[in-house]
Amino acid sequence: CGIFAYLNYRVPRTRKEIFETLVKGLQRLEYRGYDSAGIAVDGPKEDVKDDNNNNIRLIKKRGKVKALNEELYKKDALDLDKTFDTHFGLAHTRWATHGEPSAVNSHPHRSDKSNEFVVIHNGIITNYKELKKYLTSKGYEFESETDTEVIPKLIKYVYDNREREDVSFSTLVERVIQQLEGAFALVFKSIHFPGEAVATRRGKHIPIQYNCGHFKEGVQEKNSRNRSDSNTALHSVGGGKAVEYYFASDASAIIEHTNKVIYLEDDDIAAVAEGKLSLHRISRLAGEDPVRAIQTLQ
Ligand code: GLU
Repeated sequence: CGIFAYLNYRVPRTRKEIFETLVKGLQRLEYRGYDSAGIAVDGPKEDVKDDNNNNIRLIKKRGKVKALNEELYKKDALDLDKTFDTHFGLAHTRWATHGEPSAVNSHPHRSDKSNEFVVIHNGIITNYKELKKYLTSKGYEFESETDTEVIPKLIKYVYDNREREDVSFSTLVERVIQQLEGAFALVFKSIHFPGEAVATRRGKHIPIQYNCGHFKEGVQEKNSRNRSDSNTALHSVGGGKAVEYYFASDASAIIEHTNKVIYLEDDDIAAVAEGKLSLHRISRLAGEDPVRAIQTLQ
Protein backbone atom coordinates (compact mmCIF):
# COMPACT_ATOMS: atom_id res chain seq x y z
CA CYS A 1 0.00 0.00 0.00
CA GLY A 2 1.41 3.33 -0.92
CA ILE A 3 0.53 6.93 -1.57
CA PHE A 4 2.29 9.35 -3.86
CA ALA A 5 1.13 12.76 -4.99
CA TYR A 6 2.78 15.51 -6.98
CA LEU A 7 1.87 19.18 -7.18
CA ASN A 8 3.51 21.60 -9.60
CA TYR A 9 2.61 25.23 -9.12
CA ARG A 10 3.62 27.61 -11.91
CA VAL A 11 6.07 24.96 -13.11
CA PRO A 12 4.79 23.94 -16.55
CA ARG A 13 4.63 20.17 -16.95
CA THR A 14 3.24 18.09 -19.77
CA ARG A 15 0.78 15.34 -18.98
CA LYS A 16 3.43 12.84 -19.98
CA GLU A 17 5.86 14.27 -17.43
CA ILE A 18 3.16 14.16 -14.78
CA PHE A 19 2.36 10.52 -15.61
CA GLU A 20 6.03 9.62 -15.44
CA THR A 21 6.51 11.29 -12.07
CA LEU A 22 3.44 9.58 -10.60
CA VAL A 23 4.33 6.15 -11.96
CA LYS A 24 7.92 6.39 -10.81
CA GLY A 25 6.71 7.37 -7.35
CA LEU A 26 4.47 4.29 -7.24
CA GLN A 27 7.26 2.04 -8.45
CA ARG A 28 9.38 3.16 -5.53
CA LEU A 29 6.60 2.07 -3.18
CA GLU A 30 6.01 -1.32 -4.79
CA TYR A 31 8.12 -3.14 -2.19
CA ARG A 32 5.41 -2.40 0.39
CA GLY A 33 3.06 -4.82 -1.36
CA TYR A 34 -0.22 -4.12 -3.20
CA ASP A 35 -2.82 -5.68 -5.46
CA SER A 36 -3.94 -2.74 -7.63
CA ALA A 37 -2.99 0.79 -8.56
CA GLY A 38 -4.60 3.99 -9.75
CA ILE A 39 -4.10 7.70 -10.41
CA ALA A 40 -6.11 10.91 -10.63
CA VAL A 41 -5.07 13.74 -12.95
CA ASP A 42 -6.74 16.70 -14.58
CA GLY A 43 -8.48 15.72 -17.78
CA PRO A 44 -11.78 15.23 -19.51
CA LYS A 45 -14.35 12.78 -18.20
CA GLU A 46 -14.07 9.22 -19.42
CA ASP A 47 -16.86 9.71 -21.94
CA VAL A 48 -15.67 13.12 -23.20
CA LYS A 49 -12.88 13.50 -25.74
CA ASP A 50 -12.35 17.25 -25.56
CA ASP A 51 -9.39 17.98 -23.32
CA ASN A 52 -10.68 21.44 -22.46
CA ASN A 53 -13.39 19.92 -20.36
CA ASN A 54 -12.25 20.75 -16.85
CA ASN A 55 -12.56 17.58 -14.88
CA ILE A 56 -10.66 14.91 -13.03
CA ARG A 57 -9.77 11.71 -14.82
CA LEU A 58 -9.35 8.51 -12.82
CA ILE A 59 -7.35 5.63 -14.25
CA LYS A 60 -7.40 2.48 -12.13
CA LYS A 61 -6.25 -1.04 -12.71
CA ARG A 62 -6.10 -4.30 -10.85
CA GLY A 63 -2.57 -5.74 -10.83
CA LYS A 64 0.84 -4.22 -11.21
CA VAL A 65 1.92 -0.59 -11.63
CA LYS A 66 3.29 -1.73 -14.98
CA ALA A 67 -0.23 -2.59 -16.10
CA LEU A 68 -1.49 0.80 -14.94
CA ASN A 69 1.36 2.48 -16.81
CA GLU A 70 0.39 0.70 -20.05
CA GLU A 71 -3.19 1.85 -19.55
CA LEU A 72 -2.01 5.48 -19.45
CA TYR A 73 -0.54 5.25 -22.94
CA LYS A 74 -3.27 3.32 -24.73
CA LYS A 75 -4.01 4.58 -28.19
CA ASP A 76 -7.12 6.57 -27.25
CA ALA A 77 -5.25 7.98 -24.27
CA LEU A 78 -5.26 11.59 -23.17
CA ASP A 79 -3.19 14.18 -25.01
CA LEU A 80 0.28 13.59 -23.61
CA ASP A 81 1.70 16.92 -24.77
CA LYS A 82 -0.92 19.02 -23.07
CA THR A 83 0.89 21.33 -20.67
CA PHE A 84 -0.33 22.26 -17.22
CA ASP A 85 1.10 25.37 -15.62
CA THR A 86 -0.25 24.15 -12.29
CA HIS A 87 -1.44 20.64 -11.58
CA PHE A 88 -2.00 18.22 -8.74
CA GLY A 89 -1.86 14.47 -9.41
CA LEU A 90 -2.60 11.55 -7.08
CA ALA A 91 -1.28 8.01 -7.25
CA HIS A 92 -2.01 4.96 -5.10
CA THR A 93 -1.19 1.32 -4.67
CA ARG A 94 -3.87 -0.61 -2.82
CA TRP A 95 -3.63 -3.53 -0.48
CA ALA A 96 -7.27 -4.49 -0.17
CA THR A 97 -8.79 -4.69 3.29
CA HIS A 98 -12.48 -4.16 2.40
CA GLY A 99 -13.65 -5.35 -1.00
CA GLU A 100 -11.78 -7.63 -3.37
CA PRO A 101 -8.95 -6.40 -5.58
CA SER A 102 -10.66 -4.93 -8.67
CA ALA A 103 -10.59 -1.76 -10.76
CA VAL A 104 -13.72 -0.34 -9.13
CA ASN A 105 -12.41 -0.99 -5.62
CA SER A 106 -9.05 0.57 -6.49
CA HIS A 107 -8.22 4.08 -5.47
CA PRO A 108 -8.68 7.00 -6.06
CA HIS A 109 -12.28 6.94 -4.87
CA ARG A 110 -14.71 9.66 -5.83
CA SER A 111 -17.62 11.64 -4.43
CA ASP A 112 -19.86 11.18 -7.45
CA LYS A 113 -19.83 10.56 -11.19
CA SER A 114 -18.53 14.08 -11.82
CA ASN A 115 -15.43 13.34 -9.70
CA GLU A 116 -15.92 16.54 -7.71
CA PHE A 117 -13.74 15.22 -4.88
CA VAL A 118 -11.31 12.33 -5.14
CA VAL A 119 -9.20 10.73 -2.45
CA ILE A 120 -6.48 8.14 -1.94
CA HIS A 121 -6.33 6.27 1.36
CA ASN A 122 -4.05 3.87 3.14
CA GLY A 123 -5.45 2.29 6.28
CA ILE A 124 -8.89 1.28 7.53
CA ILE A 125 -11.95 3.34 8.45
CA THR A 126 -13.52 1.33 11.26
CA ASN A 127 -16.81 3.25 11.43
CA TYR A 128 -17.43 3.17 7.67
CA LYS A 129 -20.66 1.16 8.03
CA GLU A 130 -22.40 3.85 10.09
CA LEU A 131 -21.16 6.55 7.74
CA LYS A 132 -22.24 4.60 4.67
CA LYS A 133 -25.69 4.05 6.14
CA TYR A 134 -26.04 7.76 6.88
CA LEU A 135 -24.80 8.85 3.47
CA THR A 136 -26.99 6.29 1.71
CA SER A 137 -29.99 7.74 3.57
CA LYS A 138 -28.98 11.12 2.11
CA GLY A 139 -29.11 9.72 -1.41
CA TYR A 140 -25.45 8.86 -2.05
CA GLU A 141 -24.92 5.83 -4.23
CA PHE A 142 -21.85 3.74 -3.53
CA GLU A 143 -20.02 1.99 -6.35
CA SER A 144 -17.32 0.08 -4.45
CA GLU A 145 -17.18 -2.30 -1.50
CA THR A 146 -14.40 -0.35 0.20
CA ASP A 147 -14.38 1.38 3.54
CA THR A 148 -12.60 4.29 1.80
CA GLU A 149 -15.51 5.39 -0.36
CA VAL A 150 -17.31 7.03 2.57
CA ILE A 151 -14.56 9.67 2.64
CA PRO A 152 -15.11 11.34 -0.77
CA LYS A 153 -18.88 11.06 -0.27
CA LEU A 154 -18.61 12.67 3.14
CA ILE A 155 -16.51 15.58 1.91
CA LYS A 156 -19.01 16.29 -0.86
CA TYR A 157 -21.81 16.16 1.70
CA VAL A 158 -19.95 18.64 3.91
CA TYR A 159 -19.19 20.83 0.88
CA ASP A 160 -22.78 20.84 -0.36
CA ASN A 161 -24.03 21.69 3.14
CA ARG A 162 -21.44 24.34 3.95
CA GLU A 163 -22.82 27.45 5.59
CA ARG A 164 -20.36 29.84 3.94
CA GLU A 165 -19.29 30.05 0.32
CA ASP A 166 -15.61 30.58 1.01
CA VAL A 167 -14.90 27.54 3.15
CA SER A 168 -11.36 26.29 2.53
CA PHE A 169 -10.36 22.86 1.29
CA SER A 170 -8.48 22.14 4.55
CA THR A 171 -11.52 23.12 6.64
CA LEU A 172 -13.64 20.64 4.68
CA VAL A 173 -11.05 17.93 5.31
CA GLU A 174 -10.91 18.85 8.98
CA ARG A 175 -14.67 18.36 9.26
CA VAL A 176 -14.43 15.04 7.49
CA ILE A 177 -11.69 13.57 9.64
CA GLN A 178 -13.54 14.58 12.78
CA GLN A 179 -16.12 11.98 11.73
CA LEU A 180 -13.61 9.24 10.91
CA GLU A 181 -12.47 6.46 13.21
CA GLY A 182 -9.62 4.15 12.41
CA ALA A 183 -6.26 4.64 10.78
CA PHE A 184 -5.60 6.63 7.69
CA ALA A 185 -3.25 8.53 5.49
CA LEU A 186 -5.27 10.57 3.00
CA VAL A 187 -4.66 12.91 0.10
CA PHE A 188 -7.53 14.88 -1.44
CA LYS A 189 -8.00 16.56 -4.83
CA SER A 190 -11.06 18.49 -6.02
CA ILE A 191 -12.38 20.23 -9.11
CA HIS A 192 -13.60 22.94 -6.72
CA PHE A 193 -10.02 23.65 -5.62
CA PRO A 194 -7.86 23.33 -8.73
CA GLY A 195 -4.12 23.26 -8.04
CA GLU A 196 -4.71 22.73 -4.32
CA ALA A 197 -3.76 19.74 -2.19
CA VAL A 198 -4.77 18.55 1.26
CA ALA A 199 -3.14 15.64 3.10
CA THR A 200 -3.65 14.24 6.57
CA ARG A 201 -2.98 11.15 8.65
CA ARG A 202 -3.92 9.39 11.90
CA GLY A 203 -2.95 6.11 13.47
CA LYS A 204 0.50 5.28 14.60
CA HIS A 205 0.14 1.58 14.12
CA ILE A 206 0.20 1.84 10.35
CA PRO A 207 3.66 2.28 8.88
CA ILE A 208 2.86 5.50 7.13
CA GLN A 209 4.68 8.69 7.40
CA TYR A 210 3.70 11.51 5.24
CA ASN A 211 6.48 13.45 3.77
CA CYS A 212 6.14 16.48 1.75
CA GLY A 213 9.08 18.11 0.24
CA HIS A 214 9.71 20.87 -2.18
CA PHE A 215 12.42 22.16 -4.37
CA LYS A 216 12.79 24.78 -7.02
CA GLU A 217 15.27 27.55 -7.59
CA GLY A 218 12.55 30.09 -7.03
CA VAL A 219 12.04 29.17 -3.41
CA GLN A 220 15.53 28.21 -2.47
CA GLU A 221 16.46 31.57 -1.07
CA LYS A 222 13.33 32.04 0.94
CA ASN A 223 13.48 28.56 2.36
CA SER A 224 17.13 28.66 3.25
CA ARG A 225 16.20 30.70 6.28
CA ASN A 226 13.79 28.00 7.38
CA ARG A 227 16.36 25.37 6.75
CA SER A 228 18.97 26.93 9.00
CA ASP A 229 16.41 27.18 11.77
CA SER A 230 14.63 23.88 11.68
CA ASN A 231 11.97 25.00 14.13
CA THR A 232 10.74 27.85 12.02
CA ALA A 233 7.05 27.60 11.33
CA LEU A 234 6.22 26.56 7.84
CA HIS A 235 3.28 28.71 7.12
CA SER A 236 4.56 30.20 3.93
CA VAL A 237 6.89 27.78 2.28
CA GLY A 238 6.74 28.44 -1.39
CA GLY A 239 5.93 32.10 -1.05
CA GLY A 240 3.56 31.92 -4.00
CA LYS A 241 6.41 31.42 -6.45
CA ALA A 242 7.05 28.47 -8.70
CA VAL A 243 7.20 25.42 -6.51
CA GLU A 244 6.73 21.67 -6.46
CA TYR A 245 5.51 19.45 -3.65
CA TYR A 246 5.61 15.70 -3.24
CA PHE A 247 3.51 13.74 -0.78
CA ALA A 248 4.45 10.15 -0.13
CA SER A 249 3.94 7.39 2.39
CA ASP A 250 7.66 6.78 2.36
CA ALA A 251 10.58 9.15 1.94
CA SER A 252 12.23 6.69 -0.44
CA ALA A 253 9.67 7.71 -3.06
CA ILE A 254 10.69 11.36 -3.03
CA ILE A 255 14.38 11.30 -2.28
CA GLU A 256 15.22 11.62 -5.97
CA HIS A 257 13.33 14.92 -6.09
CA THR A 258 14.30 16.50 -2.78
CA ASN A 259 15.94 15.60 0.50
CA LYS A 260 13.91 18.17 2.44
CA VAL A 261 10.92 16.59 4.12
CA ILE A 262 8.33 17.38 6.72
CA TYR A 263 6.86 14.47 8.65
CA LEU A 264 3.25 14.97 9.52
CA GLU A 265 2.00 13.80 12.88
CA ASP A 266 -1.40 12.38 13.73
CA ASP A 267 -4.24 14.75 12.92
CA ASP A 268 -2.00 17.27 11.19
CA ILE A 269 -3.58 18.65 8.05
CA ALA A 270 -1.18 19.86 5.39
CA ALA A 271 -2.67 22.12 2.74
CA VAL A 272 -1.12 23.64 -0.34
CA ALA A 273 -2.98 26.55 -1.90
CA GLU A 274 -1.51 29.06 -4.35
CA GLY A 275 1.82 27.30 -4.00
CA LYS A 276 2.01 27.81 -0.24
CA LEU A 277 2.09 25.04 2.30
CA SER A 278 0.35 25.48 5.63
CA LEU A 279 -0.18 23.08 8.50
CA HIS A 280 -3.23 22.90 10.74
CA ARG A 281 -4.44 20.93 13.71
CA ILE A 282 -8.00 19.76 13.89
CA SER A 283 -9.87 21.95 16.32
CA ARG A 284 -10.86 19.23 18.72
CA LEU A 285 -7.20 19.05 19.58
CA ALA A 286 -7.33 22.83 19.81
CA GLY A 287 -4.31 24.99 20.30
CA GLU A 288 -2.15 26.53 17.68
CA ASP A 289 -1.18 25.37 14.25
CA PRO A 290 1.72 23.00 14.55
CA VAL A 291 5.32 23.73 13.84
CA ARG A 292 7.03 20.87 12.07
CA ALA A 293 10.67 21.01 11.30
CA ILE A 294 11.97 20.59 7.80
CA GLN A 295 14.27 17.62 8.00
CA THR A 296 17.14 16.87 5.67
CA LEU A 297 17.46 13.25 4.64
CA GLN A 298 20.97 11.91 4.49
N1 GLU B 1 -8.97 -0.01 3.33
C1 GLU B 1 -8.74 0.52 2.03
C2 GLU B 1 -9.21 -0.44 0.96
O1 GLU B 1 -9.40 -1.58 1.20
C3 GLU B 1 -7.29 0.95 1.80
C4 GLU B 1 -6.32 -0.21 1.72
C5 GLU B 1 -4.87 0.24 1.61
O2 GLU B 1 -4.29 0.70 2.63
O3 GLU B 1 -4.29 0.13 0.52
O4 GLU B 1 -9.38 -0.04 -0.13
